[in-house]
Amino acid sequence: MVESRRNSENGRDDVSRRIDPSLAIHGGAPVRDTPLPYARQSITDEDIAAVTAALKSDWLTTGPLVAEYETAVAQRVGAKEAVAVSSGTAALHTAFAALGIGAGDEVILPTLTFAATASTVIFQGARPVFADVDPATLLVDPASVEARITPATRAIVSVDYAGQPCDYGQLSELAERKGLAIVDDACHALGASYRGEPIGSITDATAFSTHSVKHIATGEGGVVTTDRSDLASRMRRFRNHGITLDHRERANRGSWHYEIRELGYNYRLTDIQCALGLSQLQKLDLFIERRRAIAARYNKAFKGNETLSPLELAPLSDHVYHLYVVRLNRKRLESDRSDLFAALRAEGIGVNVHYIPVHLQPYYQKEFGTGPGDCPEAERAYQEILTLPMFPAMRDSDVDDVVNALSKVIGAHTA
Ligand SMILES: *Cc1c(COP(=O)(O)O)cnc(C)c1O
Repeated sequence: MVESRRNSENGRDDVSRRIDPSLAIHGGAPVRDTPLPYARQSITDEDIAAVTAALKSDWLTTGPLVAEYETAVAQRVGAKEAVAVSSGTAALHTAFAALGIGAGDEVILPTLTFAATASTVIFQGARPVFADVDPATLLVDPASVEARITPATRAIVSVDYAGQPCDYGQLSELAERKGLAIVDDACHALGASYRGEPIGSITDATAFSTHSVKHIATGEGGVVTTDRSDLASRMRRFRNHGITLDHRERANRGSWHYEIRELGYNYRLTDIQCALGLSQLQKLDLFIERRRAIAARYNKAFKGNETLSPLELAPLSDHVYHLYVVRLNRKRLESDRSDLFAALRAEGIGVNVHYIPVHLQPYYQKEFGTGPGDCPEAERAYQEILTLPMFPAMRDSDVDDVVNALSKVIGAHTA
């Protein structure tokens, strides 16, 4: 029988619990009675008070808190400008639009990412071109990016996968040499840094998400940061129908007149959401600290494990652990990832997989002629990756449940 040591919140670790060795998926007792999600927001009474105050104010949509939130985000990531938008997807789309990406252009992005990294390129009428990843870190491989550059290439998208910044030394050098822009999809990486420089101030534009599973939550939400004021003003128009002035500016000027010079969308973030964002941002450092402590506890538990290994750390990057991803050693397993996945879910562990390579999705195969073999490292990694639960409110005992469930399930599936 496997013994589980449960750390209660007051630090006692003498409460032991027996773990039923028969798998929950086969009718045994699950490691957890209440399922542990893979991610979860942390909302406090201060957050609720901040939102309540916004609701009682004169502004619900674009009011003073939008500008306040933008200033706070820009300061936090060391960028000159921040433009708040309605989602991380809107942030990426807004960045591509501001850079003038359009029909006939190609944008290179890693295939191991969320759907929105690629779809937002297509929203602008451009073509997504998929690059492979480094098998150790699952970050975009600069050599694979370089091999895909053509005369039509306009931009590179870096994805700071799991919360670990890409190799911006090599990517910036490449972008400069080829005259390309870099858009950082930093939806996993708010608060991270590369060579001590915060993510958000390194590339032409950086897109963050504040969806509830990300580092800070505004419900849905996103923000783009940039040092270029020309891009920032284009982005502010783009999020508001392409209109040159927002309604507060018009009210201040006492004028009804407005102009549309370019197509835009309604990608505005509300004052209500910005109130939550401002309140959450104050806790970002604490959230990151807790995520790192959880990662350290996982790392310690998996040290020397021959069936699974955490992703490697990139030497110059400060990881903020949006995700904690392990890679399974298929040679030592009798069954594949989907069996382990189902067995772990039955034990009450909310494992996940990030991501199915985008170039393998039917839409991309049909519309862009992509397919198996295009990005071999990402395709191999996809068969072996597993995302373990990771969020600031997880207790040490929750981490231990994950570790125990993994050893129970893997034990039942190894030769
Ligand atoms: C979450 C995420 C997005 C999209 O953000 P939304 O706020 O959900 O629109 C884009 N790219 C990556 C890598 C993400 O994780």
